[in-house]
Amino acid sequence: MTTNQDQLVKALTNDQNFRVLAVNATDVVKTAQSSHNLQSTSTAALGRALVASLLLANSALKGKEGLTVRLNGQGPVGGMLIDADADGHVKGYAQHPDVDLPRTAAGEIDVASGVGQDGFLEVLKNQGGTEPYASSVPLVSGKIGDDFAYYLAKSEQIPSALGVSVEVNQSDEVEVAGGYLIQTMPGADEDAISQLEERLKTLPGIATTLKEDPHPDHLIDVLFGTDNVKILQHLPVSFYCDCSKEKFAGRLAGIGRKDLQQLIDEDHGAEVVCNFCGSKYDFSEDDLVNILNKQTKDDENHE
Ligand SMILES: [Zn+2]
Repeated sequence: MTTNQDQLVKALTNDQNFRVLAVNATDVVKTAQSSHNLQSTSTAALGRALVASLLLANSALKGKEGLTVRLNGQGPVGGMLIDADADGHVKGYAQHPDVDLPRTAAGEIDVASGVGQDGFLEVLKNQGGTEPYASSVPLVSGKIGDDFAYYLAKSEQIPSALGVSVEVNQSDEVEVAGGYLIQTMPGADEDAISQLEERLKTLPGIATTLKEDPHPDHLIDVLFGTDNVKILQHLPVSFYCDCSKEKFAGRLAGIGRKDLQQLIDEDHGAEVVCNFCGSKYDFSEDDLVNILNKQTKDDENHE
């Protein structure tokens, strides 16, 4: 029996000082790991970036809006690219899936060394306009959570606390993944902010909390106390890619007639792999000829 615990919860504290999002994304990170054959360090690095992107998208966007996160700290994991939308969908990949660095003295995965910190975090928001809104900040730690919090403070001028956690056991299995995002509301009480900062230092970890009870409401409860918040929404989250053979056929049509003819003559087909989800699409020689013929017809219609 499998029960998908993955969901995101949005809440507002009763004193109106803070908006809070919490998510359990364990299956999201498990799916990313199996889709991309991720080793331990790559799993934790991409996993944290997936969780943080989900939190960011669902705090800042509405409906069908989405965002793309690009992150590269020049570490062995290389660049990461993540797409998330306000509907709880996320997908992404890391340039080097096979990074497996030694753990830290505390037995934790060394995400900071895997990601590096000589680089940037860029967010492109697609809110339905002609041009996406793009903003980028330098990385501050490579640990992902701090880097996203810095982005929120710098680019969006919203003082925020963001925590992400991906726990991978010694057999490289994802035990739990999740996180929270707390945003200060305009006019929030200064004392309440400093009290929260103090409390965050003393709380049990995200992984520990979600292992106690996988429901993200439990994370909110630990952060603020159930009686002190109003739950606004629950939203299922998933690793989801909308690729299809038709979409890749469109891309193949775009590579130009000469290259298509070369694929037909020399390779007699093509296998296309989706970077985001690892799905493979086989195009037979006939498929490619059809794409080429359709393109020729389209060109004639335009003349
Ligand atoms: Zn895909």
